[in-house]
Amino acid sequence: MATSRPLLAGNWKMNGTRASLSEIAALRDAVAAGRTRGADVLICPPFTLVMAAADLCAGTGLMIGGQDCDAHPAGASTGDVSAEMLRDAGAGAVIVGHSERRAHRGDTDAVVRAKAEAAGRAGLMAILCVGETRAEHDRGETLRVIGRQIDDSVPPSASAAGLALAYEPVWAIGTGVVPSADDIATVHAFMRRRLRSLLGAEGGGVRLLYGGSVKPDNAAEVLAVEHVDGVLVGGASLKEAEFLAIAEARR
Ligand code: PGA
Repeated sequence: MATSRPLLAGNWKMNGTRASLSEIAALRDAVAAGRTRGADVLICPPFTLVMAAADLCAGTGLMIGGQDCDAHPAGASTGDVSAEMLRDAGAGAVIVGHSERRAHRGDTDAVVRAKAEAAGRAGLMAILCVGETRAEHDRGETLRVIGRQIDDSVPPSASAAGLALAYEPVWAIGTGVVPSADDIATVHAFMRRRLRSLLGAEGGGVRLLYGGSVKPDNAAEVLAVEHVDGVLVGGASLKEAEFLAIAEARR
């Protein structure tokens, strides 16, 4: 664990209705009661819940974010939501480059970079995801892929406060399979070096998250890995009790 304030982020993906706002309210109260022990805590519900969730959490220690944004502030782009709109709805952050969007929505590194830049212009922290597929992993290409994704999708103007970089191996997402602590450490050390060469001193302060099958029973080990400054949690972020157990597992 690095010295910066850890960031514990939840990605609800396409899950959640108004009834789920009770989970967010419970988490907000747990954060207020100090149960997340000084970590920055973020939940990214679907767009439909962002405004209601942000209203519930306004002025509290629980930040609300979006799961994606368009690269343009406004315009003829049916079905899309801009970073400015998220900000207006009360969001403080947005995920960009999630592997599900890279794989199913055609988000190339250039698109991801444009979205991260849009987030920065709107005053949102970008949670930028990178990660290799199972085939790339098995061919020994992990660092080459991560290096390319960082070089081509991290905006050169990014600041430490405005960016978190999440390592999410595609083969670990939703599978229950997690890389070894040594493998996470290797990738995170590589990401740190790459960010420093790309962004200079700012690159030293960007928080590096691990994501992919993080659960209460493996969170302590993952969060103890060197250069792991937090986690991006999918399935286990949907229920307040499970997400809180991840936060409380931090040593
Ligand atoms: P998971 O998802 O925790 O359900 O594996 C992580 C993610 O996709 O961000």
